[in-house]
Amino acid sequence: MSFVNTKSTKADEVLDKALQGERLSLEEGTILYQSDDLIKLGAAAKKIMQKHAPDNLGTFVINRNINYTNICDTYCRFCAFYRTAKDADSYVLSDEVIFDKIQETIDLGGTEILMQGGTNPNLPFSYYTDILKKIKARFDITMHSFSSAEILKMVEVSGLPLDEVIRQLREAGLDSLPGGGAEILDDRTRMRISKLKESWTKWMEVHDVAQRQGMNTTATMVIGFGESIEERLLHFIRVREQQDKTGRFTAFISWVYQPDNTALKGTRATAVEYLKNLAISRLMVDNVRNFQSSWVTMGHKIGQLAMEFGCNDMGSTMIEENVVSAAGAHNRSDKEQLIRLIRDAGRIPAQRDTQYNILEIF
Ligand code: SF4
Repeated sequence: MSFVNTKSTKADEVLDKALQGERLSLEEGTILYQSDDLIKLGAAAKKIMQKHAPDNLGTFVINRNINYTNICDTYCRFCAFYRTAKDADSYVLSDEVIFDKIQETIDLGGTEILMQGGTNPNLPFSYYTDILKKIKARFDITMHSFSSAEILKMVEVSGLPLDEVIRQLREAGLDSLPGGGAEILDDRTRMRISKLKESWTKWMEVHDVAQRQGMNTTATMVIGFGESIEERLLHFIRVREQQDKTGRFTAFISWVYQPDNTALKGTRATAVEYLKNLAISRLMVDNVRNFQSSWVTMGHKIGQLAMEFGCNDMGSTMIEENVVSAAGAHNRSDKEQLIRLIRDAGRIPAQRDTQYNILEIF
């Protein structure tokens, strides 16, 4: 399919290049952001998606977020979830509550637990290895858990090197790492929105060490912090370069910053900005197979539309989610609803596991 017609633009030429399988540069990505032709960007992104995933499936996973603690000493300005240990509503969930939530997830056909919390300085490293061991002794469930910020907190409290922390977590039962904490992989914006969070190179190092030990991880991105277009493009290029080295990012997941109840405040990026960024991410990050739609932050309709802008996956049913909902995103779906959304978007609904193996087609 050629986008070059009688009135060819620079953006058309870049899209043609991407469709021919050539890799786009930062300058070419900039040209795409300058284009207002959202429909053309989406159509090209969908074509690239179909090269990676030609089966017309719209996949999803049934999982549950377990936010085991909201105590955090990283104080990101965009976060409405964290509390200090002194706050009356701070918590660490008991093991029993965690087990009950996992049992409920399994009863609903769930296969994955996304345990994520604050960087709680009061939890020793043994807390994490113990809870993983206890979970694995009781349940047959994939633990896709802990953001890079939590992993680095474990490094700090244990005094162990990063590779040893990850090795011990794996041995205890950690299966894969979510991309949480990537936000924008460039330090100007990172330092403005979360001074105490790791640099982008540290985020990448956590993923690199995990991937080199054989784990798969996901790459995430949040837009709408006032980051520059160049920073967004550097984010894509840095993920792409890491993927060239290991091939172990299973998915790329982007969403927009949710400003309610945060210190940073600001306005929510529009659906158009989200879809445009999504399409360009699919065109730039040419070596990751799966792109997830962010219906949790964008709502069902935009979540569906994302399937026309490069996504082949609807993410998860999210039995529970407390982090973006604290910042104003209140979208919920059960399995049947998600199946309907995917079908209405023109795809064949399919339940998958964390590693994107198909479990059931509907
Ligand atoms: S985003 Fe995560 S690391 Fe940052 S303050 Fe919130 S809970 Fe803590």
